[in-house]
Amino acid sequence: MAYPYRHEKETPMLSRGFGDPRTRTLEGWKELGGYTALEKALSGSREDVIEEVKASGLRGRGGAGFPTGVKWSFMPKEKKGPHYLCCNADESEPGTFKDRELLRWTPHQVIEGCLIAAYAMQAEHVYIYCRGEFFEATQILARAVEEAYEAGLIGTNILGTGADIELTVVAGAGAYICGEETALMNSLEGRRGLPRVKPPFPAAVGAFGRPTTINNVETLASVPHIINRGGAWYRGFGTEKSPGTKLFCVSGHVRRPGNYELPLGFPMMELINDVCGGLLPGRTLKAVIPGGSSVPIMSAEDCQTCTLDYEGVVECGSMLGCASVIVMDDTTNIVKQVRRMVDFYAHESCGQCTPCREGTQWLSRILVRIENGKGTEEDLDTLLELGDQMTGTTICVLSDSAAAPVASSIEKFRDDYLALIRRGERVGAA
Ligand code: SF4
Repeated sequence: MAYPYRHEKETPMLSRGFGDPRTRTLEGWKELGGYTALEKALSGSREDVIEEVKASGLRGRGGAGFPTGVKWSFMPKEKKGPHYLCCNADESEPGTFKDRELLRWTPHQVIEGCLIAAYAMQAEHVYIYCRGEFFEATQILARAVEEAYEAGLIGTNILGTGADIELTVVAGAGAYICGEETALMNSLEGRRGLPRVKPPFPAAVGAFGRPTTINNVETLASVPHIINRGGAWYRGFGTEKSPGTKLFCVSGHVRRPGNYELPLGFPMMELINDVCGGLLPGRTLKAVIPGGSSVPIMSAEDCQTCTLDYEGVVECGSMLGCASVIVMDDTTNIVKQVRRMVDFYAHESCGQCTPCREGTQWLSRILVRIENGKGTEEDLDTLLELGDQMTGTTICVLSDSAAAPVASSIEKFRDDYLALIRRGERVGAA
């Protein structure tokens, strides 16, 4: 069966089984070489696994881009009690829809990655924390976990190697903030999903007070390929500082939106024009948000030379984040789009920090005023000042995420704001 998103420019690794329901089953996954990486990992030392992942240069795919092998090495070497691994499947960033596809089509790929990571970090229990709305994906995953238990791939004495790893699938309740790693752990423990003050960091005091690592679904799904074929092979894709392939979620005003697996460093304009079929006839590119709604907006000019890797996007004034590329053409009302994103963050704020709880509401109110033609030029200064006070002053980065698109849109699309403000002035004068 052909997957509707597939394209000849893809470099399938993670998305190899997409569109083929057989890869949801243990038998189908094994036909693609599934669980050979787990066998290989368990036959070597834990340190070897961590070194191989370090050598691959794999960076966390949840948004931060921190080197995965280094993160794993933060876990205590000496085990004085339980260690845990949490797989963050609470994918909720607006514009992001890759992790649910990995779970829906290749649940065993994710499970295998989790087991290898757990072995490397001496984690005796893996929790896969799924976004509550992912009903279908969670059911498919739960069935795959059952199959893996029945086959002796999870549980006690895995594959006769003496390794004991349990795995539990947990469904969240639909709060965006539970994708923040410490809020996720609180939710897992049955508490309110509130982010915790750091330090202590999860590798020291995590879930249930024990050393814990939290990795994104796509990060963990990459691990079996690295173990099977080696870190050096993985480095053959992407750029020197951003190795490997990445799932790009493209949405908005392109002819073929969808998930595309491409090597990091792929040119943004080629993604839009070639892979996604370009914009609709007669339309021109206005703006792109390259990494989910929480990163700065780029103008069409910024995009022309931008390559999609962690460094390339920063050089062009934004961040790769989770590589959710939202494309906007010349029909887009930027102020309205930004206001909608701010409303989302205002709704999802957990309310612990004043700059976030109050700031997101104020941003929204001022943007609505401008959108309705009742704003003033001073409102733009107020928005920027408010954004400054919301950045770097709170427990987690939700507050920064709400402020970033506002500041970047005023910088890049000031004329759009002024047009709405001046329309209001004309209406008032009439
Ligand atoms: Fe909660 Fe916002 Fe503070 Fe994060 S920044 S802890 S979401 S109030």
